Amino acid sequence: MAKVGFIGLGNMGAPMAANLVKAGHEVIGFDLSPPAIEGAKARGLTIAASAAEAVADVDVVVTMLPSGKHVLGAVEGLFKAARPGTLFIDSSTIDVASAHAFHKAADAAGHESLDAPVSGGVMGAEAATLTFMCGGTAGAFAKAEPLLAAMGRKSVHCGDAGAGQTAKICNNMILGISMIGVCEAFVLGEKLGLSHQALYDVASTSSGQCWALTTNCPVPGPLPTSPANRDYKPGFATALMLKDLKLSQDAAQHAGAATALGAAATALYAAFEEEGFGGKDFSGIIEWVRTREA
Ligand code: NAD
Repeated sequence: MAKVGFIGLGNMGAPMAANLVKAGHEVIGFDLSPPAIEGAKARGLTIAASAAEAVADVDVVVTMLPSGKHVLGAVEGLFKAARPGTLFIDSSTIDVASAHAFHKAADAAGHESLDAPVSGGVMGAEAATLTFMCGGTAGAFAKAEPLLAAMGRKSVHCGDAGAGQTAKICNNMILGISMIGVCEAFVLGEKLGLSHQALYDVASTSSGQCWALTTNCPVPGPLPTSPANRDYKPGFATALMLKDLKLSQDAAQHAGAATALGAAATALYAAFEEEGFGGKDFSGIIEWVRTREA
Protein backbone atom coordinates (compact mmCIF):
# COMPACT_ATOMS: atom_id res chain seq x y z
CA MET A 1 0.00 0.00 0.00
CA ALA A 2 1.26 3.47 -0.85
CA LYS A 3 1.50 6.70 1.07
CA VAL A 4 -0.17 9.40 -1.03
CA GLY A 5 -0.28 13.20 -0.83
CA PHE A 6 -3.44 14.51 -2.53
CA ILE A 7 -3.53 18.18 -3.59
CA GLY A 8 -6.89 19.60 -4.71
CA LEU A 9 -9.91 18.19 -2.89
CA GLY A 10 -12.70 19.73 -4.98
CA ASN A 11 -15.62 18.04 -6.75
CA MET A 12 -13.35 15.42 -8.30
CA GLY A 13 -10.36 15.29 -5.94
CA ALA A 14 -12.27 14.62 -2.70
CA PRO A 15 -14.08 11.46 -3.89
CA MET A 16 -10.93 10.23 -5.68
CA ALA A 17 -8.86 10.63 -2.50
CA ALA A 18 -11.60 8.89 -0.49
CA ASN A 19 -11.48 5.93 -2.89
CA LEU A 20 -7.73 5.61 -2.34
CA VAL A 21 -8.38 5.40 1.40
CA LYS A 22 -11.11 2.79 0.82
CA ALA A 23 -8.57 0.70 -1.12
CA GLY A 24 -6.23 0.77 1.89
CA HIS A 25 -3.77 3.50 0.89
CA GLU A 26 -2.65 6.11 3.40
CA VAL A 27 -3.71 9.56 2.13
CA ILE A 28 -2.82 13.04 3.37
CA GLY A 29 -4.77 15.74 1.57
CA PHE A 30 -4.54 19.49 1.13
CA ASP A 31 -6.65 22.22 -0.49
CA LEU A 32 -6.53 26.01 -0.35
CA SER A 33 -10.30 26.35 0.10
CA PRO A 34 -11.79 25.97 3.60
CA PRO A 35 -15.11 24.53 2.29
CA ALA A 36 -13.18 21.91 0.28
CA ILE A 37 -11.21 20.99 3.42
CA GLU A 38 -14.41 20.67 5.44
CA GLY A 39 -15.94 18.47 2.73
CA ALA A 40 -12.86 16.26 2.66
CA LYS A 41 -12.84 15.94 6.46
CA ALA A 42 -16.50 14.89 6.34
CA ARG A 43 -15.37 12.01 4.08
CA GLY A 44 -12.86 10.98 6.74
CA LEU A 45 -9.76 12.26 4.94
CA THR A 46 -6.68 13.39 6.87
CA ILE A 47 -5.75 17.01 6.06
CA ALA A 48 -2.24 18.47 6.28
CA ALA A 49 -1.53 21.97 7.57
CA SER A 50 0.16 22.90 4.27
CA ALA A 51 0.75 21.55 0.77
CA ALA A 52 4.43 21.02 1.65
CA GLU A 53 3.48 18.91 4.68
CA ALA A 54 1.11 16.80 2.58
CA VAL A 55 3.88 15.75 0.17
CA ALA A 56 6.95 15.69 2.45
CA ASP A 57 6.92 12.01 3.34
CA VAL A 58 4.93 10.16 0.67
CA ASP A 59 5.58 7.78 -2.25
CA VAL A 60 3.13 9.40 -4.66
CA VAL A 61 1.53 12.84 -5.06
CA VAL A 62 -1.74 13.28 -6.96
CA THR A 63 -2.78 16.77 -8.09
CA MET A 64 -6.39 17.51 -9.12
CA LEU A 65 -6.48 21.26 -9.80
CA PRO A 66 -8.47 23.57 -12.09
CA SER A 67 -5.99 24.49 -14.84
CA GLY A 68 -2.39 24.52 -16.08
CA LYS A 69 -1.47 27.69 -14.21
CA HIS A 70 -2.71 26.20 -10.93
CA VAL A 71 -0.73 23.01 -11.53
CA LEU A 72 2.52 24.75 -12.48
CA GLY A 73 2.12 27.21 -9.60
CA ALA A 74 1.52 24.44 -7.07
CA VAL A 75 4.19 21.97 -8.17
CA GLU A 76 6.98 24.52 -7.92
CA GLY A 77 6.84 24.22 -4.12
CA LEU A 78 5.71 20.57 -4.08
CA PHE A 79 8.73 19.36 -6.06
CA LYS A 80 11.03 20.97 -3.48
CA ALA A 81 9.11 19.62 -0.48
CA ALA A 82 8.86 16.00 -1.69
CA ARG A 83 11.52 13.31 -1.31
CA PRO A 84 13.59 12.80 -4.49
CA GLY A 85 12.10 10.04 -6.62
CA THR A 86 8.48 10.75 -5.65
CA LEU A 87 5.96 9.93 -8.38
CA PHE A 88 3.79 12.94 -9.31
CA ILE A 89 0.48 12.13 -11.03
CA ASP A 90 -1.37 15.15 -12.39
CA SER A 91 -5.01 14.24 -13.07
CA SER A 92 -6.19 17.79 -13.77
CA THR A 93 -7.30 18.62 -17.32
CA ILE A 94 -4.70 21.14 -18.50
CA ASP A 95 -3.21 22.45 -21.74
CA VAL A 96 -0.67 20.25 -23.47
CA ALA A 97 2.12 22.86 -23.20
CA SER A 98 1.69 23.09 -19.41
CA ALA A 99 1.69 19.29 -19.19
CA HIS A 100 5.07 19.23 -20.94
CA ALA A 101 6.35 21.93 -18.55
CA PHE A 102 5.11 19.84 -15.58
CA HIS A 103 7.05 16.77 -16.75
CA LYS A 104 10.19 18.80 -17.50
CA ALA A 105 10.18 20.46 -14.06
CA ALA A 106 9.52 17.11 -12.32
CA ASP A 107 12.44 15.55 -14.15
CA ALA A 108 14.74 18.47 -13.27
CA ALA A 109 13.77 18.10 -9.60
CA GLY A 110 14.54 14.34 -9.64
CA HIS A 111 10.93 13.10 -9.58
CA GLU A 112 8.88 10.76 -11.77
CA SER A 113 5.77 12.14 -13.44
CA LEU A 114 2.61 11.13 -15.25
CA ASP A 115 -0.11 13.27 -16.80
CA ALA A 116 -3.32 11.33 -16.15
CA PRO A 117 -6.48 13.34 -16.88
CA VAL A 118 -9.78 11.56 -16.45
CA SER A 119 -13.12 11.11 -18.07
CA GLY A 120 -16.22 10.02 -16.18
CA GLY A 121 -17.03 13.20 -14.24
CA VAL A 122 -18.09 13.53 -10.61
CA MET A 123 -20.23 10.38 -10.77
CA GLY A 124 -17.25 8.39 -12.04
CA ALA A 125 -15.04 9.90 -9.33
CA GLU A 126 -17.56 8.88 -6.63
CA ALA A 127 -18.06 5.38 -8.01
CA ALA A 128 -14.35 4.78 -8.82
CA THR A 129 -15.22 4.16 -12.46
CA LEU A 130 -13.07 6.88 -14.06
CA THR A 131 -10.99 6.34 -17.19
CA PHE A 132 -7.41 7.60 -16.88
CA MET A 133 -5.54 8.71 -20.02
CA CYS A 134 -1.84 8.65 -19.20
CA GLY A 135 1.32 10.20 -20.61
CA GLY A 136 4.82 9.49 -19.32
CA THR A 137 7.35 6.67 -19.10
CA ALA A 138 6.30 3.02 -18.95
CA GLY A 139 7.91 2.87 -15.49
CA ALA A 140 5.86 5.78 -14.13
CA PHE A 141 2.68 4.28 -15.60
CA ALA A 142 3.39 0.86 -14.05
CA LYS A 143 3.97 2.46 -10.64
CA ALA A 144 0.78 4.52 -10.91
CA GLU A 145 -1.48 1.72 -12.12
CA PRO A 146 -2.48 0.21 -8.73
CA LEU A 147 -3.48 3.67 -7.48
CA LEU A 148 -5.37 4.50 -10.66
CA ALA A 149 -7.18 1.16 -10.34
CA ALA A 150 -8.46 2.25 -6.92
CA MET A 151 -9.98 5.41 -8.44
CA GLY A 152 -11.09 4.19 -11.85
CA ARG A 153 -12.09 1.29 -14.06
CA LYS A 154 -9.64 1.73 -16.92
CA SER A 155 -6.19 3.27 -17.42
CA VAL A 156 -4.67 3.68 -20.86
CA HIS A 157 -0.97 4.42 -21.36
CA CYS A 158 -1.32 6.79 -24.33
CA GLY A 159 2.39 7.51 -24.84
CA ASP A 160 5.11 9.85 -23.67
CA ALA A 161 4.80 13.04 -21.61
CA GLY A 162 1.65 15.00 -22.53
CA ALA A 163 -0.03 12.12 -24.41
CA GLY A 164 -2.74 11.77 -21.74
CA GLN A 165 -3.79 15.41 -22.07
CA THR A 166 -3.69 15.11 -25.86
CA ALA A 167 -5.99 12.07 -25.79
CA LYS A 168 -8.36 13.83 -23.41
CA ILE A 169 -8.83 16.96 -25.53
CA CYS A 170 -9.09 14.96 -28.76
CA ASN A 171 -11.80 12.79 -27.19
CA ASN A 172 -13.72 15.77 -25.85
CA MET A 173 -13.45 17.61 -29.17
CA ILE A 174 -15.21 14.60 -30.75
CA LEU A 175 -17.84 14.78 -28.01
CA GLY A 176 -18.50 18.54 -28.38
CA ILE A 177 -18.81 18.24 -32.16
CA SER A 178 -21.00 15.14 -32.02
CA MET A 179 -23.36 16.63 -29.41
CA ILE A 180 -24.01 19.63 -31.62
CA GLY A 181 -24.54 17.31 -34.60
CA VAL A 182 -27.10 15.28 -32.63
CA CYS A 183 -28.87 18.48 -31.47
CA GLU A 184 -29.05 19.85 -35.03
CA ALA A 185 -30.49 16.54 -36.26
CA PHE A 186 -33.23 16.55 -33.59
CA VAL A 187 -34.12 20.19 -34.37
CA LEU A 188 -34.20 19.51 -38.12
CA GLY A 189 -36.40 16.46 -37.46
CA GLU A 190 -38.76 18.58 -35.30
CA LYS A 191 -39.14 21.16 -38.07
CA LEU A 192 -39.94 18.40 -40.55
CA GLY A 193 -42.49 16.77 -38.22
CA LEU A 194 -40.40 13.75 -37.13
CA SER A 195 -40.93 12.55 -33.54
CA HIS A 196 -37.96 12.44 -31.15
CA GLN A 197 -38.63 8.77 -30.50
CA ALA A 198 -38.61 7.87 -34.19
CA LEU A 199 -35.29 9.61 -34.81
CA TYR A 200 -33.82 8.05 -31.66
CA ASP A 201 -34.98 4.55 -32.63
CA VAL A 202 -33.45 4.88 -36.09
CA ALA A 203 -30.21 6.75 -35.29
CA SER A 204 -29.40 4.75 -32.15
CA THR A 205 -29.25 1.57 -34.22
CA SER A 206 -27.85 3.15 -37.39
CA SER A 207 -24.73 4.99 -38.46
CA GLY A 208 -25.69 8.12 -36.46
CA GLN A 209 -25.14 6.20 -33.22
CA CYS A 210 -22.78 7.92 -30.76
CA TRP A 211 -22.36 8.60 -27.01
CA ALA A 212 -24.02 12.02 -27.32
CA LEU A 213 -27.17 10.28 -28.60
CA THR A 214 -27.38 7.02 -26.69
CA THR A 215 -25.92 8.00 -23.29
CA ASN A 216 -26.62 11.73 -23.09
CA CYS A 217 -29.60 12.14 -25.43
CA PRO A 218 -30.36 15.90 -25.66
CA VAL A 219 -34.17 15.56 -25.83
CA PRO A 220 -36.32 14.27 -22.96
CA GLY A 221 -38.13 10.99 -23.45
CA PRO A 222 -36.16 8.39 -25.40
CA LEU A 223 -33.49 7.89 -22.72
CA PRO A 224 -34.94 8.54 -19.24
CA THR A 225 -31.50 8.76 -17.57
CA SER A 226 -30.17 11.63 -19.71
CA PRO A 227 -29.88 15.19 -18.26
CA ALA A 228 -32.57 16.40 -20.72
CA ASN A 229 -35.12 14.72 -18.44
CA ARG A 230 -34.12 16.88 -15.45
CA ASP A 231 -33.95 20.33 -17.04
CA TYR A 232 -30.34 19.77 -18.18
CA LYS A 233 -28.90 19.59 -14.69
CA PRO A 234 -25.32 18.28 -15.25
CA GLY A 235 -23.99 15.71 -15.99
CA PHE A 236 -21.16 17.46 -17.74
CA ALA A 237 -21.50 21.23 -17.44
CA THR A 238 -21.24 23.47 -20.50
CA ALA A 239 -18.44 25.48 -18.81
CA LEU A 240 -16.30 22.33 -18.56
CA MET A 241 -17.03 21.32 -22.16
CA LEU A 242 -16.06 24.82 -23.28
CA LYS A 243 -12.84 24.64 -21.25
CA ASP A 244 -11.86 21.38 -23.00
CA LEU A 245 -12.82 22.67 -26.45
CA LYS A 246 -10.70 25.78 -25.91
CA LEU A 247 -7.77 23.55 -24.90
CA SER A 248 -8.29 21.56 -28.13
CA GLN A 249 -8.21 24.76 -30.18
CA ASP A 250 -5.05 26.05 -28.44
CA ALA A 251 -3.38 22.72 -29.17
CA ALA A 252 -4.65 22.64 -32.77
CA GLN A 253 -3.22 26.08 -33.41
CA HIS A 254 0.08 25.08 -31.85
CA ALA A 255 0.29 21.86 -33.86
CA GLY A 256 -0.98 23.38 -37.12
CA ALA A 257 -3.94 20.96 -37.29
CA ALA A 258 -7.08 21.96 -39.22
CA THR A 259 -10.07 21.50 -36.89
CA ALA A 260 -12.87 23.48 -38.56
CA LEU A 261 -15.64 21.60 -36.75
CA GLY A 262 -13.76 21.84 -33.43
CA ALA A 263 -13.55 25.61 -33.94
CA ALA A 264 -17.26 25.81 -34.80
CA ALA A 265 -18.23 23.76 -31.72
CA THR A 266 -16.04 26.00 -29.54
CA ALA A 267 -17.73 29.14 -30.91
CA LEU A 268 -21.22 27.70 -30.38
CA TYR A 269 -20.51 26.59 -26.80
CA ALA A 270 -18.89 29.98 -26.06
CA ALA A 271 -22.05 31.76 -27.27
CA PHE A 272 -24.25 29.39 -25.22
CA GLU A 273 -22.17 30.04 -22.10
CA GLU A 274 -22.14 33.80 -22.68
CA GLU A 275 -25.94 33.77 -22.53
CA GLY A 276 -25.71 32.42 -18.97
CA PHE A 277 -25.94 28.65 -19.52
CA GLY A 278 -22.47 27.59 -18.35
CA GLY A 279 -23.97 25.60 -15.47
CA LYS A 280 -26.34 23.57 -17.69
CA ASP A 281 -25.44 20.15 -19.03
CA PHE A 282 -23.74 20.54 -22.41
CA SER A 283 -26.66 18.73 -24.09
CA GLY A 284 -28.80 21.78 -23.15
CA ILE A 285 -27.34 23.54 -26.18
CA ILE A 286 -30.26 22.00 -28.12
CA GLU A 287 -32.55 24.69 -26.66
CA TRP A 288 -30.21 27.33 -28.05
CA VAL A 289 -29.89 25.59 -31.44
CA ARG A 290 -33.70 25.52 -31.63
CA THR A 291 -33.93 29.31 -31.32
CA ARG A 292 -31.35 30.10 -34.04
CA GLU A 293 -32.46 31.54 -37.36
CA ALA A 294 -31.47 29.49 -40.43
P1 NAD B 1 -12.92 22.05 -8.38
O1 NAD B 1 -12.83 23.50 -8.67
O2 NAD B 1 -14.14 21.49 -7.72
O3 NAD B 1 -11.64 21.60 -7.49
C1 NAD B 1 -10.36 22.12 -7.65
C2 NAD B 1 -9.80 22.35 -6.25
O4 NAD B 1 -8.43 22.75 -6.35
C3 NAD B 1 -10.52 23.45 -5.47
O5 NAD B 1 -11.04 22.92 -4.27
C4 NAD B 1 -9.42 24.49 -5.21
O6 NAD B 1 -9.54 25.14 -3.96
C5 NAD B 1 -8.19 23.62 -5.27
N1 NAD B 1 -6.94 24.34 -5.51
C6 NAD B 1 -6.65 25.26 -6.46
N2 NAD B 1 -5.36 25.64 -6.39
C7 NAD B 1 -4.80 24.92 -5.36
C8 NAD B 1 -3.51 24.86 -4.80
N3 NAD B 1 -2.49 25.58 -5.27
N4 NAD B 1 -3.31 24.02 -3.76
C9 NAD B 1 -4.30 23.27 -3.26
N5 NAD B 1 -5.57 23.28 -3.76
C10 NAD B 1 -5.81 24.11 -4.80
O7 NAD B 1 -12.66 21.32 -9.79
P2 NAD B 1 -13.00 19.80 -10.17
O8 NAD B 1 -14.38 19.72 -10.76
O9 NAD B 1 -12.63 18.92 -9.02
O10 NAD B 1 -12.00 19.57 -11.39
C11 NAD B 1 -10.61 19.36 -11.18
C12 NAD B 1 -9.98 19.05 -12.53
O11 NAD B 1 -10.60 17.89 -13.10
C13 NAD B 1 -10.14 20.18 -13.57
O12 NAD B 1 -8.96 20.28 -14.30
C14 NAD B 1 -11.30 19.70 -14.42
O13 NAD B 1 -11.26 20.21 -15.74
C15 NAD B 1 -11.08 18.20 -14.41
N6 NAD B 1 -12.30 17.40 -14.67
C16 NAD B 1 -13.46 17.71 -14.04
C17 NAD B 1 -14.60 16.96 -14.31
C18 NAD B 1 -15.92 17.28 -13.64
O14 NAD B 1 -16.94 16.74 -14.07
N7 NAD B 1 -15.93 18.11 -12.58
C19 NAD B 1 -14.54 15.89 -15.21
C20 NAD B 1 -13.31 15.56 -15.79
C21 NAD B 1 -12.20 16.33 -15.52
